[in-house]
Amino acid sequence: MSLKGIFPVECPHCGEKFEAHCWTIVHGGRDEDIKELFFTGEFDLLMCPKCDTVFRHEEPFVYLEPEKELVIFVMPESYRAEKDRWIAKMQADFEQVREMFMETAGASEPRCIFGLDGLQEILASDKDRSEETEVMEFMAAEAGLKVLAVMPDKARELDIPFSLPVDGGLGVKSALKATEKLIAVNSFLPRLKKLAEVLENLPGEEIPFLKR
Ligand SMILES: [Zn+2]
Repeated sequence: MSLKGIFPVECPHCGEKFEAHCWTIVHGGRDEDIKELFFTGEFDLLMCPKCDTVFRHEEPFVYLEPEKELVIFVMPESYRAEKDRWIAKMQADFEQVREMFMETAGASEPRCIFGLDGLQEILASDKDRSEETEVMEFMAAEAGLKVLAVMPDKARELDIPFSLPVDGGLGVKSALKATEKLIAVNSFLPRLKKLAEVLENLPGEEIPFLKR
């Protein structure tokens, strides 16, 4: 579940001091409506109770999406100047809550980013990849092919879909055959084409980036 904390804030327009509720943990996988705020630019926007000025207030928070192997410590942009110190602090904090995290967030190692833009970039690219994956999976089902999940971080690194189709066995040959079948049906899926390239260049019959 996503959580908020209470923080002292000062209005940049009139100087009014007040307490604001800001997110400390955002569970992007479960709370789609909060995740949407990153796309609309409304995340942690506050309104001054005295002069009604709307402004952004950044506090550090943790973004979680275990299904996509995302554990991200999002620091305010202004912390970038002391990047090393904050990353060290994040790592120390994480060690303390590692066990609790492993239960909710799986085995993903945390990463640290500064500013909301970096998070928005990751989420936007994931959204594109998910949409392309859905189209591919729909086509695979139509063609009577099975699909297997890819490790999310590998999908990002290789720029391929979050899953891959197979035609028969679980090895490279079967995956390549299925991928080429789907490209023949729809050649407008860039990540599916990239997948064919990646599969062609694998040395053996084993696919090293399948989710276990
Ligand atoms: Zn104000």
